[in-house]
Amino acid sequence: MKPAVLLALFLASPIAAGELRQSGISDGSLKADTAMLASDAFEGRRPGTPGGDKAVTYITQRMRAIGLQPGNHGAWTQDVPLVTITTAPTPLTFSYCSDGHQECRAASHTSLAYGTDVVLWTKRQVATQALAASPVVFVGYGIVAPEKGWNDYAGVDVHGKTVVFLVNDPDWQTKAAGKEAGPFEGRAMTYYGRYTYKFEEAARQGAAAAIVIHDTEPAGYGWNVITTSWTGPQIDLDGPDKGSGRVGVEGWMTRAAIERLLAAVGQDLGRLTTSAQQPGFRAVPLPMSASATLSNTVAHSASKNVIGIVPGAKYPDETVFFTAHWDHLGRCPADRTGDDICNGAVDNASGVAGVLALAQAFAAGPKPARTVAFMSVTGEESGLLGSRWYAEHPVYRLALTAGGVNMDGLNVGGRTHDITISGGGKSDLDATAIAVAKAQGRTVSPEPSPEKGGYFRSDHFSFAKLGVPMLRAGSGTDRIDGGRAAGEAAQADYTAHRYHQPSDNYDPNWNWGGAVEDLDLYYAVGRDLADGHQWPQWYAGAELKAVRDTTADQRPGGR
Ligand SMILES: [Zn+2]
Repeated sequence: MKPAVLLALFLASPIAAGELRQSGISDGSLKADTAMLASDAFEGRRPGTPGGDKAVTYITQRMRAIGLQPGNHGAWTQDVPLVTITTAPTPLTFSYCSDGHQECRAASHTSLAYGTDVVLWTKRQVATQALAASPVVFVGYGIVAPEKGWNDYAGVDVHGKTVVFLVNDPDWQTKAAGKEAGPFEGRAMTYYGRYTYKFEEAARQGAAAAIVIHDTEPAGYGWNVITTSWTGPQIDLDGPDKGSGRVGVEGWMTRAAIERLLAAVGQDLGRLTTSAQQPGFRAVPLPMSASATLSNTVAHSASKNVIGIVPGAKYPDETVFFTAHWDHLGRCPADRTGDDICNGAVDNASGVAGVLALAQAFAAGPKPARTVAFMSVTGEESGLLGSRWYAEHPVYRLALTAGGVNMDGLNVGGRTHDITISGGGKSDLDATAIAVAKAQGRTVSPEPSPEKGGYFRSDHFSFAKLGVPMLRAGSGTDRIDGGRAAGEAAQADYTAHRYHQPSDNYDPNWNWGGAVEDLDLYYAVGRDLADGHQWPQWYAGAELKAVRDTTADQRPGGR
């Protein structure tokens, strides 16, 4: 952001420290709502289960009690049609000649074990999906980015083939992050680094199977997260094409598994990775083929987003959004203690509690000029499904949705000296958040792990992908109590031992001071948007600016 922009912002909307506490948010309701939603009675809040239905009922009741109005044309919920596909555990078998030739008399076979080496699924609504002796091609990072002069599929036809690619993008190991640090913004992940993008690209290329090579650091999480997230019933939006536009077989494999396979045919993952990071990389056909037969059961269901509003007094058609997903993983493989419920206390009972606390603050405060919507969405853990459905079927026109704040996991470890902004430097909302943080006496720290691509990993991205500026910000790691060492240790501990595991349980000893301060910040950002009439802009060069600009003429002032 240019200093002039920040200065203008200070002059236009001076935010004094005293005003921040107008939210009146305290930890009382945060604790009660989080404890309730994360209790075993909700069974991990999986969409399509009684526990998931319970969460919808609870949030609706809370919104009604707070005094919100129903947000969907008089209804509290929006139906989200879902399909659940359960693929039976299936090994992935590779055939090759140990002398490196594809055609040979006595081929060797290696089966990668489901769960330990590989996980496979299909997004197609079919009983059986077969992959038969499909030639395997290593396609580097699996990226086609014409504006960057990058094409990992150049000169190779992958129709009917199995593409294998690396997670993240080619310059994630660069130390610096940002546009100067490399074609893919250095250490910061671009959308091209997301596996979601890679699967979509593999489908456009006509591949028969697409497998991501897992690696903990560039993925941002361990293999345990892959097995808890991608095994068992898989939920998706139930679209008209019944999944036929997807690659037939999708999956992840461990780095160790592909290293073993490559060694058997005289290849080396380290060497392939190095070449994949060079501009002009060409895909490498491997002397092996892949086979698997996936047996699936397909079930249709519906889940719900919950929406409540405080109607705008002056511009009721213009909206500001606060969002947090209510769903989590439900029943999980049991951990060592025998606990088989992924309760999702931090992820994301805490965020729902935050949205409800903000709703309470807006309902009790002065009437906003614009409508403020509080939405708790379903299906985030299965790929941002509820927010995607809302963004594609909005109740309030996206062109007149000024912006919003998403919460996914509040800080329950105490106050910090700093905040971080996920995917920072993209829109005017960042500048507002920075001004508020300064008024709180907090500094802004760079995102600690920009290679994890946090901005693409929660529901704000469903809005942002369609142009709506959305803020994702919160406490940094520099704790008032214990400094950076304590904050970073707690972060590492959460990622390794709680994230998407049965141990993400509610703890009555949590310190909510940092969460309250973050909610004060969200309240101030939301107030600034809801009481004013400005339209936050994406900064020049932000990848999401172009789509927002297509609706500029629908906004008063044409911006
Ligand atoms: Zn989450």
